[in-house]
Amino acid sequence: MAIQLDTSITVRARDILNRTFGYAEFRGEQQEIIEHVASGGDAFVLMPTGGGKSLCYQIPAMLRSGIGVVVSPLIALMQDQVTALKELGVNAEMLNSALSVSQQMDVKWKLRRGGIDLLYVAPERLVLDSMLEMLSEVDLALFAIDEAHCVSQWGHDFREEYLALSVLHERFSDVPRIALTATADEPTRKEIIQRLNLGDARTFIASFDRPNIRYQIVIKDRPQKQLLAFLNSEHDGDSGIVYCLSRKKTEQVAKLLQDAGKDAIPYHAGLNATVRKHNQERFLREDGVIIVATIAFGMGIDKPDVRFVAHLDLPKSIEAYYQETGRAGRDGLPSDAWMTYGMADVAVLRSLIESSEADDAHKRLEHRKLNALLGLCETASCRRKILLSYFGDELAEPCGNCDTCLHPVETWDGTLAAKKAIYVAKQTDERFGAGYLVDIMHGKKLERLIGLGHDKLSAFGKGTELSEREWSSVFRQLVSMGYLKVDMERYGSIKLTSESANVLKGDVTISFRKDYAIHEKKGKAPRVRAASKLVDSKSVGVFEALRAKRMELAKEQGVPPYVIFHDSTLKAMAETRPVNLDEMSEISGVGEHKLAKYGVIFLDVLEKNRHEQQRD
Ligand code: ADP
Ligand code: ZN
Repeated sequence: MAIQLDTSITVRARDILNRTFGYAEFRGEQQEIIEHVASGGDAFVLMPTGGGKSLCYQIPAMLRSGIGVVVSPLIALMQDQVTALKELGVNAEMLNSALSVSQQMDVKWKLRRGGIDLLYVAPERLVLDSMLEMLSEVDLALFAIDEAHCVSQWGHDFREEYLALSVLHERFSDVPRIALTATADEPTRKEIIQRLNLGDARTFIASFDRPNIRYQIVIKDRPQKQLLAFLNSEHDGDSGIVYCLSRKKTEQVAKLLQDAGKDAIPYHAGLNATVRKHNQERFLREDGVIIVATIAFGMGIDKPDVRFVAHLDLPKSIEAYYQETGRAGRDGLPSDAWMTYGMADVAVLRSLIESSEADDAHKRLEHRKLNALLGLCETASCRRKILLSYFGDELAEPCGNCDTCLHPVETWDGTLAAKKAIYVAKQTDERFGAGYLVDIMHGKKLERLIGLGHDKLSAFGKGTELSEREWSSVFRQLVSMGYLKVDMERYGSIKLTSESANVLKGDVTISFRKDYAIHEKKGKAPRVRAASKLVDSKSVGVFEALRAKRMELAKEQGVPPYVIFHDSTLKAMAETRPVNLDEMSEISGVGEHKLAKYGVIFLDVLEKNRHEQQRD
């Protein structure tokens, strides 16, 4: 009997996948998760951003009788999720303070009548007595707790309201619950399971690899220029996120990009609410907008066609880096994660950790996390291998899609240079920053230097074989290897570690990566049409025509363009050129509802642009 039930669930789930969502196959563990939850089981799902978590609760909610209640932390973004579902012909609604009283009444009425498959609710509203009361009177399919790491007090997205969600298990013990998150580290996982009472839930851990994202980490040199060169050469006209550490900097950088002719806008918690909302909406609703933001921006942003995430400052850990960069390329198309870093960043982050309220154990943990991130920055081997191994995933071969794979890094024997660098720091009582130490080794007769008597040191003038940049690379790499450290209290001064003596004694050989910043190519990078990276060369024009039509429709309806079709769907249209509705329905992302609503319109665009390329 049970087996029969399972097969019918499988068949019905696939049917919804094909007809409603327009997708041909489940991805990864989606099918297993859906079957488990649809059969009434609890689940805890760890999947990277863009992995396809939403289907894992949306399809079971549609398969089971009753309403699937989705807890989602950001009211501002619920609307887009609900709109996207409605576009697919799914009966989805939301209940939150953004609705008028009469709209809320309307939703409640539908709720009682059983006309809703998915109901999106903010956590603070869900746990209100009146809400729980109402839910206890209707048939419930499941509870989905999205962004479940918000329940973790250690995590960076902690939300008080999430703690109260344990009430769901107590009050509705027979309704299946599925908690989902993209945050992977072990302590957070444990905390989620414990706080949400998910001890008996089946845990699904997907591979964390995001093969379509290309990782690049460059040495900070003239960062804003570097950013512009990167955007011009690889992402002209693309939509993306630029992360900065401070609010002020987001505004400066947005201005700089605007002056360079980009459609860039700032976003941070200090902007007034109207401006913030407006900027977020522009980013979501228009093509090609760049948002320059602090980390306040991003959670819950489902925009699938973010083509790049750039970091002008270091994030504080590999988890944070992975989560932030994960916002690129949810649609699976080629995307970039690009970052600049320098030693000053490290000093700033270290002092932020030190000045925080946390206890010593927590501070040590934060320092270790930062060290792991530095290891990623300084590595001469595949970045993806390092990232994935941090999350417990092993990659057998180098990935071929990160900067170190694409442009293998040369190394050089730096044993002597390392000795000199450590020695000069020691001779000056570990009280100075790298820049000053290089001045000593370069033998610069600076007033301050002479005043301190440092021109008398044996190290004075003994390091002219390397340039300033090369020395700063040496210091940075020694710090990331643990042979030196950057003092946190005294801004940026270089200190010895317990390992330094081994270098001075000559017990270790040290090899450094040659810094590619030094060999960076000169001159202006040529602008490249962004679409040409996404579709084959013969289809660029058609792809752009399809996108223009999509934008027009999106504007008319006041919805984000990706709610109509994703780039990946338009790409498939441009490359395969369907000529009738039947062929159109074969395209991934074209479900029944969208076929009926948009099929003819997009066929018409293809027809009009037929001359752009002959069909094969
Ligand atoms: P997450 O919530 O894990 O970040 P989403 O649920 O938003 O990811 O899915 C990421 C993207 O992948 C979305 O654009 C979604 O429509 C698409 N997607 C999900 N599952 C499939 C599938 N089986 N086939 C094709 N596309 C899919
Ligand atoms: Zn690689």
